[in-house]
Amino acid sequence: MTAIEDDWRYQSAAHLRGQAFVFKPYTRYREGWDHDHCAGCGDTFAEAAVSSGALHTGWAVTSDYDKGADYEWMCADCFSLLKDALALTPR
Ligand SMILES: [Zn+2]
Repeated sequence: MTAIEDDWRYQSAAHLRGQAFVFKPYTRYREGWDHDHCAGCGDTFAEAAVSSGALHTGWAVTSDYDKGADYEWMCADCFSLLKDALALTPR
């Protein structure tokens, strides 16, 4: 069994340690930024009108994050995989 610290998704999302997250429909961070990627696995998030093949709901950082709410997104699979190891707080 591999340690979670060796998992590529853990390493990819390590900068989000200790952050609070809210599960919500994906909304763009700002005009002209029409999609985002999971901070763990890199899966694509987009609004349903933009891409039917992308994820439309996920975990987003809150206004506690230094770059603001919705700046970083994480898919449900990565959130459950990483929440204990990275001390992520669901809100
Ligand atoms: Zn993911």
